[in-house]
Amino acid sequence: MTATTDQFTDFSGFTEQFPRNLLIGGEWVEGGAGATMPVENPATGETLTVVADAEPADGARALAAAVAAQRDWARTAPRKRSEILRAAYDLLLARIEDLALLMTLEMGKSLDEARGEVRYAAEFFRWFSEEAVRIDGGYTRVPAGDKRALVLAAPVGPCLLITPWNFPLAMGARKIGPAIAAGCTMVLKPAPQTPLSSLALAAILIEAGLPAGVLNVVTTSRAGELTEPLLRGGEVRKLSFTGSTAVGKILLAQCGSAVVRTSMELGGNAPFLVFSDADLDVALDAAMQAKMRNMGEACTSANRFYVHEGVAAPFAEELARRMSALRVAPGWLEGAQVGPLIDGASRDKVQRLVRDAVSRGATVLAGGGAPEGPGYFYRPTVLIDVAAASELCSAEIFGPVAAIQTFNDDDDVVALANNTPWGLVGYVFTQDVDRAFNVSEDLNVGMVGLNSGIVSDPATPFGGVKESGLGREGGRVGIDEFLDYKLISMPIRR
Ligand code: ADP
Repeated sequence: MTATTDQFTDFSGFTEQFPRNLLIGGEWVEGGAGATMPVENPATGETLTVVADAEPADGARALAAAVAAQRDWARTAPRKRSEILRAAYDLLLARIEDLALLMTLEMGKSLDEARGEVRYAAEFFRWFSEEAVRIDGGYTRVPAGDKRALVLAAPVGPCLLITPWNFPLAMGARKIGPAIAAGCTMVLKPAPQTPLSSLALAAILIEAGLPAGVLNVVTTSRAGELTEPLLRGGEVRKLSFTGSTAVGKILLAQCGSAVVRTSMELGGNAPFLVFSDADLDVALDAAMQAKMRNMGEACTSANRFYVHEGVAAPFAEELARRMSALRVAPGWLEGAQVGPLIDGASRDKVQRLVRDAVSRGATVLAGGGAPEGPGYFYRPTVLIDVAAASELCSAEIFGPVAAIQTFNDDDDVVALANNTPWGLVGYVFTQDVDRAFNVSEDLNVGMVGLNSGIVSDPATPFGGVKESGLGREGGRVGIDEFLDYKLISMPIRR
């Protein structure tokens, strides 16, 4: 059955064509206890379908399959690994409509955004198919002249990949792609809210020729119970995690016991700086992207808008106009632009943050509440005169709320922007080249969007500083996270 975008509410026939069991050692299997867990459609609050709910023993079986496959996979020709990734890239694009609808149904984003994510996910496979055949090392004579040193790059070993619900396909591809390219086997544990996209992705990789055991997928409602013994057991050699800073810290501590390498993509609290000399149209277009991509449910989402007091009024008015004009609707409907938030708790949190800001003096220029009806929708909201002590300045909003403060001094605003434990991304809008570089250099972040509202690209390194994480995904360095450099040192005898 092929996806359509008609307004139909019974999606069971559609979701049932995708795998819903665990993938262990190349077989689709039920969880050991036969348990299942529901997958909810956040636009309706209804259950879409159920998937296997793995117990800890299933996690151990999945890891055993990854460990068993590691030696042969590491010996597989890089060209072969590259071609599997390239085939998966082609399959993702060929199935874009079905994958986009599946993602929209379990996650909520509009079909347009979901299609964009399928293309983005596919690009990771294309990029890492190109990287798989470019892994190199070195052959040198040490400075003292008495030894030869060979350096070779070897796969780090079996990996545990833990992904969030906000970009269910792309976050998986961003980890699976470099792991495959490097010659690592893996266990993927997707977020319980969005297991279907990950299972569909795994099916595509198998179709593309990935050998049994290289990728294993365990969907579970018991994340911590399942993953902690794996991280402490000594066989997982690498954790790649994307999620909240709070959970990231727990996992970092667990990784300490067996000295597991980590890549951590954690939370953010992105500042969005609009200087008096900014091109306001450019800044507004970017604000809509940086705020509204994924309904604001992104770690890169603009969280704090700092607008120079000379341009704050026109910026805020036009932003409010554009935000109010967005169509809030179930993502599969034609013309839908803003889907629901992931669940009731997320919507309640956004509502609480807005109420807190208003109680501290903020004015609502647009939105400011949830529409009537089913689903976890929240209206695109613009707040001005936001007090710095408001909770939404220090917490990740993760929703469609733009909170605007004003400033009048460059140094002050950079200090404010940096005054957070996070450091993922900052957005800077100015037409002055010196200011552009000075501010970009002074922001304590891993990425800067300079006159741009989107920074992510598979060909560039994504990641943060401070409590936003460790390591980088994508770019030339992305594969290094899955490689160990091994030295072979030998004396020179003549
Ligand atoms: P969010 O709050 O956005 O859901 P989380 O950090 O809670 O972010 O979740 C990100 C991923 O981490 C999900 O796959 C989730 O199941 C997983 N996770 C949550 N808690 C734990 C834990 N204690 N141990 C391992 N994984 C966890």
